[in-house]
Amino acid sequence: MKRLFINAVIWGRTDTAILTEGEKIRRIGMTEELQKEAESADEVIDLNGLFVCPGFIDSHLHLLEYGRYLENVQLHSCTSRQEVLNLLKQQEKKLPKGEWLLGRGFNEELFDDPKMPTKADLDQISKERPIAVTRCCGHKMVVNSKALELANMDEDSMVEGGSIDFENGFLEETAITVLHDSWPAETEESIRRSILRGQKELNRYGITAVGSDDFMSITHDWRLVLDVMMKMAFRGELTVRVNEQCEFPSPEEFAAFLDEGYTTDVGDDLFRIGPLKIIADGSLGARTAALSKDYSDDRGNSGYMVYNRSELETWVKLAADYNMPVITHAIGDRTVREVLNVYDKYVIENNLLHFGLVHCQIMTPAEIKRTIDMNLCCYFQSLFIDSDAKILEARVGSERAESCYPFRTLSEHVIACNGSDAPVETPDVMKGLQMAVTRRSLDGTAAMNPSECMDLQQAMRSYTLSGAEAFFSSDNIGSLEEGKYADFAVLDRDITKLREDEIHTAKVMMTVMNGETVFEK
Ligand SMILES: [Zn+2]
Repeated sequence: MKRLFINAVIWGRTDTAILTEGEKIRRIGMTEELQKEAESADEVIDLNGLFVCPGFIDSHLHLLEYGRYLENVQLHSCTSRQEVLNLLKQQEKKLPKGEWLLGRGFNEELFDDPKMPTKADLDQISKERPIAVTRCCGHKMVVNSKALELANMDEDSMVEGGSIDFENGFLEETAITVLHDSWPAETEESIRRSILRGQKELNRYGITAVGSDDFMSITHDWRLVLDVMMKMAFRGELTVRVNEQCEFPSPEEFAAFLDEGYTTDVGDDLFRIGPLKIIADGSLGARTAALSKDYSDDRGNSGYMVYNRSELETWVKLAADYNMPVITHAIGDRTVREVLNVYDKYVIENNLLHFGLVHCQIMTPAEIKRTIDMNLCCYFQSLFIDSDAKILEARVGSERAESCYPFRTLSEHVIACNGSDAPVETPDVMKGLQMAVTRRSLDGTAAMNPSECMDLQQAMRSYTLSGAEAFFSSDNIGSLEEGKYADFAVLDRDITKLREDEIHTAKVMMTVMNGETVFEK
């Protein structure tokens, strides 16, 4: 199939037309020049001055969990605890008996009265039906009595690497993993359905490739998730390319994965196994990220690490033994430091395997320097600025805040790729670009250190070519070039002509992936 796209404005080029053949870009040139291909083309699409950029790459998110999130109660826009409870109550009435009521996305920091809903609140909705509601960050959850009962948790329950507040029904980190075990079993079909749902939404934002962490998000059965992903890739059902960031419940499970012959690079250009993913601490919002000094707004609390150094090393060593890179979720500076201490022993010169840090939030100049010296891949989320700009100074004080979220510095020295961590944030690329450039919340009221503002060129790169580089896929994706895959997004406006605070208003009109239109407005 040959498709000719004419009269476009193309990011970074003076050309105005793209000819695709099958899944690849065959030629890029001027419309007048490529017009002669029109006769042999199966389709000619006149873009009438619309703006074309490479398909966006969201370097870290949770595709499967995002799809599931879209199927459950979405609480992102709630501005009060009561609103959260009302939405849950409405959904409760619609669900069949016995089914779990699940919700996700509230951020109590945005409420006038910044308190999480509690077990008692959820028990008022139902005591018979299990209810579990996850905070926007995914590192804290509140559940009702029935959910605690099904998870066999009581006053005396304790877990390593997490916490259970039985009184309030609050669960953190590994306690959430334990709760997941009591959820209804997943099937091939339930997983496929959520992936389809998630990728469809991603295509709406112009996203054509993702780094996705799926083995632990809604089930621990990594074999099942892997099987579904590979089958979907084989059947041509994936409309985003997936670089799987493999997370496991234990080093033993990871060893089993390796024993079965899986490792980085197994797969094809639609689904490929990427790095090992480790989660080493919590979130800034929930004050569970491990800091080297106490939270400025919570003396006596400096967060905690999910693993101690020797546990971290067990994971990293195992991966390194099999030439598998590791990327680690590390938000607090204490965690970053510990992770760097372990990486130091295993990352080879120039970091050719692409070990990385996910989030890059609370960092001191010392950690930033070490990250650059080690040439680590940095997976950051400019979208977090929208809510975190409002709490950063309160959490860590103005002095520490200066060197936090150092996106520009990182992008000038290492592979620094952007993403949404969806469902933590809505994977809205236009909004993410704006945040990277302005470092201001969308409402303009809060800002972070402006010297770390990226220019639009850097921000675009972080959402395209840098992600491709991190995935070792820059020969195939990440930019519009002849011979690369025909993955691109068509926007309604030329974003280089917009005011910085207007970028988020640009709309994706069409998304082409593998030469096929996967979204059209
Ligand atoms: Zn994540």
